[in-house]
Amino acid sequence: MQRLTVHLVIGARPNLPKVAALRRACLASPGIVPILVHTGQHASPALNEDLARDLGLPRPDLEVHAVAEGGTRRLSEMMRGYDALLEQAPPDAVVVVGDVDSTLACALTAARRRIPLAHVEAGLRCADRGMPEEQNRRLVDRIADRLYTHCAEATAALLSEGVPRDAIVQAGNVMIDTLMAQRGAARRPESLPPGLVDRPFGVVTLHRPELVDRPELLNPMMEALHAAARRLPLVFPVHPRTAMRLRQGPRGLSGPLHEVAPLPYNEFLWLTSHARVVITDSGGVQEETSFLGRPCLTVRPDTERPVTVRLGTNRVIGRDAAALMPALLDELARPELPVAPAIPGWDGRAAQRIIADLARWRGLSAAA
Ligand code: UDP
Repeated sequence: MQRLTVHLVIGARPNLPKVAALRRACLASPGIVPILVHTGQHASPALNEDLARDLGLPRPDLEVHAVAEGGTRRLSEMMRGYDALLEQAPPDAVVVVGDVDSTLACALTAARRRIPLAHVEAGLRCADRGMPEEQNRRLVDRIADRLYTHCAEATAALLSEGVPRDAIVQAGNVMIDTLMAQRGAARRPESLPPGLVDRPFGVVTLHRPELVDRPELLNPMMEALHAAARRLPLVFPVHPRTAMRLRQGPRGLSGPLHEVAPLPYNEFLWLTSHARVVITDSGGVQEETSFLGRPCLTVRPDTERPVTVRLGTNRVIGRDAAALMPALLDELARPELPVAPAIPGWDGRAAQRIIADLARWRGLSAAA
C-alpha cells in the first residue's frame, strides 16, 4: 500500500489544537502516517501536556530539545535539532501551523532539505512587522510549497504578494475543527472560587511580548483590569511569560481579578463559551470567541484576523489601558447576540479538506 509520512510540527500552545485536528484527519485517511514532532519551544506542562491530554494528543514521536530562552538562539537550536531528525528519516511532507518560532525554524529546515512544505493558517497579516509572529508568517509563506488559508482575507493577502494561485487552498479553520470536536467535553474549571462563574463574568488572556514585556503598558493595563473586574468579575489564566513579568512589577494591586494558572483546553473552552466578555491579545482566542459568538475586546493595535471583526464579535481596542473600561461598559450595554455569526469554512471539516488536498498534491492515489 502506498504511504505518505507527514511531520506535524508542534512547538507552542496554539499549535496543539490545530495539530490535533490535522492528526485526526490523517488517521482517518488511509495511507497517511502522521508523525508528531515537538520542538520544545513551550516546555511548561500547563502549555503542553494539560492541553494534549484534553485534546487526545499522544506523546510526540520525535522531539527536539531546544532549551534556549527565546530569540535567535532558540531558533537556531530548533533548526539544528530538527535538521538532525530530517537527516535520519526524511518524511514525505512537513506541515507547519501558525506563526510561532517553531513554525519558522522547522519550515526553513525542511525547505533547505527540499522536503515538500505545507503551511496551515497561511496568509494572516497585520501591520506590525516588528512582531515576531508577523515576521514568522511572512517568511514561512515565502518558502512554503502549499498554503492553506482559513478565510478570504488571507487568500487575498497571499495573491497580492504574488503567491501563485494554484499553491493556495482556502481550506477553513482547523482551530475551529478542534473547538467543535471538544465542545461536548468542555468542563467547568474546579479551581475557581465558589459562585464566581454562576453570575456574569469575563475572561482575560495576555501574553504578547509587545504588551507584557513593557511595564509602561502592562502596569496600567493591570490597574485597568482590576478596575474593570469591579464592574464584571474577571478570570485571568496567566501565561507563564506574563506571570514572570507580573512578579517583577509593582505589588499591592488587589481586587476581584481572579488570577489562575493557564487552564487545560476543555476548561478554558468552558470559560470562553460562558463568558460575557473576553479580553485578550491572543490570536486564537479572537477566532474562538468569534465562532462562539462571545464578545471579544482585543488589546492590540490591530489584528491579523480581520474576519473576526467583519463577521465575528471582535473589537480591536489597542493597548492603551484607558480604552479598556469604556469599551467594556459599551459592550455590557449591548444586548447579547442570539446566535454566533457563521464564518465560511469554519465548519469542523477544514483538516479533512487539508489532508485530502495534501494526499492529492503528494500523489497519494485515492485508492491507497
Ligand atoms: N488556551 C487554553 N488555556 C488557557 C488559555 C488559552 O487552552 O488558559 C488555548 C485557547 O483556547 C487557544 C490557544 O490556547 O486554543 C491560544 O493560544 P495562545 O493564546 O497562547 O496563542 P495565540 O493564539 O495568540 O498564538
